[in-house]
Amino acid sequence: MGNSAIVGINWGDEGKGRMVDLLTEEYDVVVRFQGGGNAGHTVINEKGKFALHLLPSGIFRDGVINILGNGVALDPENLMKEVEEVVSKGVSITPENLKISDRASLLMPWHRALDGLEEERLADKKFGSTKQGIAPFYSDKYQKKTVLAGELFYPEKLKKHLLDLMEWKNLTLTGVYGAEPVTEADIDKWLAESCAKIKPFVCNTGKILKDAQAAGKKILFEAQLGSLRDLDYGIHPYTTSSNTLAAYAPIGSGFPGASIDDVIGVVKAYSTCVGEGPFVCEMFGPEADALREAGAEYGAKTGRPRRVGPIDIVATRYGVEVQKATMIALTKLDVMSYMKEIPICERYEVEGKQTDEFPFPALLEEAKPVMKTMPGWNCDISKARKFEDLPVEARNYVEYVEKQIGCPIKYVSVGPERESIIIR
Ligand code: GDP
Repeated sequence: MGNSAIVGINWGDEGKGRMVDLLTEEYDVVVRFQGGGNAGHTVINEKGKFALHLLPSGIFRDGVINILGNGVALDPENLMKEVEEVVSKGVSITPENLKISDRASLLMPWHRALDGLEEERLADKKFGSTKQGIAPFYSDKYQKKTVLAGELFYPEKLKKHLLDLMEWKNLTLTGVYGAEPVTEADIDKWLAESCAKIKPFVCNTGKILKDAQAAGKKILFEAQLGSLRDLDYGIHPYTTSSNTLAAYAPIGSGFPGASIDDVIGVVKAYSTCVGEGPFVCEMFGPEADALREAGAEYGAKTGRPRRVGPIDIVATRYGVEVQKATMIALTKLDVMSYMKEIPICERYEVEGKQTDEFPFPALLEEAKPVMKTMPGWNCDISKARKFEDLPVEARNYVEYVEKQIGCPIKYVSVGPERESIIIR
């Protein structure tokens, strides 16, 4: 493999972190290219169990350079909390193995405040935001009302820039929401306490990536969330505010000319979804509770119970297509071992007609799942390390999904640990 991207095919939480942790062995550089601290990658390895939010999942491997690209929402305060937590468990994080793009915009404390205020205003129409300030941050970025991490090297210009932004932002905070204004003292505190700590990590990451490429090194681009949360191609308006697709990876990483040879799409063997919005294949009642418990489906960031359902072939096929995935990692197959029959959402019914096409977002609310079942395997598969070790029913399920989504399933994950993997 040359350069690769690891992306989520569905709604997120597919197990991307676990796959990056496994695959970083083959790569020299791991780059996060979008999103912020609003999701969690859970990684279990010999160093312990970690919930990563913004840090690239390559941080555990010696010799791997980890980059936070210009496309991420860089929250200095939360990033440093995360760094301190990971370091406290014995992982080394230094400016040698973590690099922050000087072109990354900084997420300000007021973005988090505005996120909470807007969810409050929406009341029963809320989007289910994690209140990490992501939507207000990206809105400001597109309005060119953010500061770049590299401005930390020009403190006088930065201060003036921040005071101008503060004046503008206070109009919204006080005028629209009736909240307290931000003061110059708040800004000074943020600069001294949080920004000072990230400064040693800030550099021109585009140059590092270009040099790495020229030296024949391999780059892994790591996405957050999944295809269906992509700002342009997802289930608008229940998307995130950034682009989760592999096509955005070169732009959000600082190396717009980078080529990606392989796109590894991560698909969970069943479906989960966090937050509001249409989720066509959703299960309810005891059936849903059993799957949620079996898969420990609670948000890594918020602890919120995830909505669950069977695999959704229509949504997954769409996700594969928009990511242009070249191979699939199917995760959490072991979780379904308790099921006598495996439910599958094979098609949708929209406006009285069955369809294989993922509908326009406005039609999703009324789409109904067309279901089928396959026999379950009903035994522990977590020790399987070769495809042939799996019972025939599990192999049939994997092969069925592969055929339906039109992309080879190269990896089958049967447990959260690094070694619980079948490579086909
Ligand atoms: P990400 O954001 O895509 O990295 O996904 P999350 O970390 O939010 O969710 C994946 C969860 O499933 C984590 O708790 C992983 O440890 C766990 N996990 C990943 N792969 C497997 C698997 O094959 N089997 C089981 N039982 N758990 C897994």
